Amino acid sequence: ENSPENQRKNVRKNITRVQNLHRRLTNIRNAYQDYVIREVVKTKPLFITLEKLNVKGMLKNKHLSKAISKQKFYDFKVKLIQKCSFIGTEIREVGTFYPSSKLCSCCGVKKVKLSLSERVFNCDHCGASLDRDDNASLNLSKATQYTILT
Ligand SMILES: [Zn+2]
Repeated sequence: ENSPENQRKNVRKNITRVQNLHRRLTNIRNAYQDYVIREVVKTKPLFITLEKLNVKGMLKNKHLSKAISKQKFYDFKVKLIQKCSFIGTEIREVGTFYPSSKLCSCCGVKKVKLSLSERVFNCDHCGASLDRDDNASLNLSKATQYTILT
C-alpha cells in the first residue's frame, strides 16, 4: 500500500496537479488581460493614460507583493501598446511623481496624506467624494506631462 514506490508515485501525481493548476491560472490571467484590453479598445479612445507604477516599491509591501508580482503588469502594457499602435490610440505614460491619487479631480487641491486603505476620496477643500480609483483616473486623463509610448 504505502510502499516507497507508491509514495513516489503520489508525489509525482501531486507535482503534476500543481503544475496543471499553475497553467490554468496563467491561462485565466492571460484571458482576463485580453478581455480588459478588448473592452478598453472597443470604445476607440483618442488616448489612454497609464501611470508608471512603482512595482519595485510595491513589491516591498508584504500585503501587495504576492498579488502584484503575478499580475504581469509588463505583459499587459506590451499587449496594450501593440493593440493601440494598431488602431491609432495614443498611449501616454505619466511618471511616478504625478500624485494621481492625492489630487482632487474636482478642485485640484492635493491631499497631504492618503493611505492605501482609504478607498473613497474625500476632499477637505471642496467636499467632493468619489471612488479612489475613479478620482485617480480622472486626474490621469487630465495629465499634461507624459511620455508617448505608441
Ligand atoms: Zn476638491
